Amino acid sequence: MPGRSFRIARIAGIPIGVSPWWLAIVWLISWSLGSAYFPDAVPGIAPAASYGLGLLSALLLFASILVHELGHAIVARRHGVEVEGIDLWLLGGVARMRGEAHAPRDELLYAIAGPAITAAITLLLGVAALAIPGSAPAVVRALVEYQLIVNALILGFNMLPAYPLDGGRVLHALLWQRHGDLARATATATAIGRGFGFAMMAVGLLELVAGAVGGLWLAFIGVFVVAAADAQRRALETEQLLGHATVASIMSSPAVTVPAGMSVAEAIGEFFVTRRMTAFPVIDVRGRVTGLLTIGAVEAVDRELRPQENVGALVDRDPQLTVGPDDDVTELLQRPSFVRVGRAAVVDDERRALGVVSVTDVRRALRAAQLGPRGGSGAAAPPRATLG
Ligand SMILES: [Zn+2]
Repeated sequence: MPGRSFRIARIAGIPIGVSPWWLAIVWLISWSLGSAYFPDAVPGIAPAASYGLGLLSALLLFASILVHELGHAIVARRHGVEVEGIDLWLLGGVARMRGEAHAPRDELLYAIAGPAITAAITLLLGVAALAIPGSAPAVVRALVEYQLIVNALILGFNMLPAYPLDGGRVLHALLWQRHGDLARATATATAIGRGFGFAMMAVGLLELVAGAVGGLWLAFIGVFVVAAADAQRRALETEQLLGHATVASIMSSPAVTVPAGMSVAEAIGEFFVTRRMTAFPVIDVRGRVTGLLTIGAVEAVDRELRPQENVGALVDRDPQLTVGPDDDVTELLQRPSFVRVGRAAVVDDERRALGVVSVTDVRRALRAAQLGPRGGSGAAAPPRATLG
């Protein structure tokens, strides 16, 4: 999974982030183009110009990947799937979505939107490549041809039916539409995705052994595909086990809350030490929950400052850490912040604390559900992502 990323822009309301690995891959592409591709394609080119064009090509490549991801994200949002953001990382781009399509047609549309954009870009570049007159500088031809080749490769690769790649999502939507059975479609698509993932790892490692460094990249994608297919399958199993269990049915109640005006030292003594929990909801003077106070935030305060500092200043106000009593447990599991912190405050419409729900509560509910007649093996699912 992409891991940490830095927000660099917001397009159509969608946050765009880049991971540190993205910088590494931009450097790698610029370096390989600058040292081999451009000197080959443009005889006599100066090294500075060659590496400059390498960097330009890498940035143009990621611009087309970004447009591809925006295609997924905008169409998904239009069909009721929440989009958390787009990240550029080691393996290209990822549109992070929360929740799933409600109907196979919706999934089909947002899965195909990215490749449709890449197909249009490839077509335009193909026309441009044909239209370049013979007298044009070699540099122009080299720039256009590189973009044409990489976009065509991205298109072909992404349309492999290897869930969660775009082709795999299309397959999933079509299976779902055909049989009307989401669980069966997910089981089939993720099994095929897993197979492709292992095949990519094998081919990638063989290439690497044969001396092609690009094999490493393919092997990485294979690892990603297997992990993502497994995560998706586990999410499905969790969903089958818990059905539409609500947060209220598994939360711990009543909530133990910390007043925002309390000092950090008092909060440690009265709550963290005595009650041995890792996070508590914090309430303001009117009794409204403002967010969660985590043990990490408390530990970060210097010992000498703890008697003076108020907990109100340390509250984590991430909206993913508050939840309504009627929300689905399976939806909660898709919130990265909930999985990271391990707890969420359950609040009513007026943000009064009703209880606390923890990852442990979810696990307990899952174990209980496994004892029931349906059986199976569930586990907390990581957030879902679509690659490319
Ligand atoms: Zn895509």
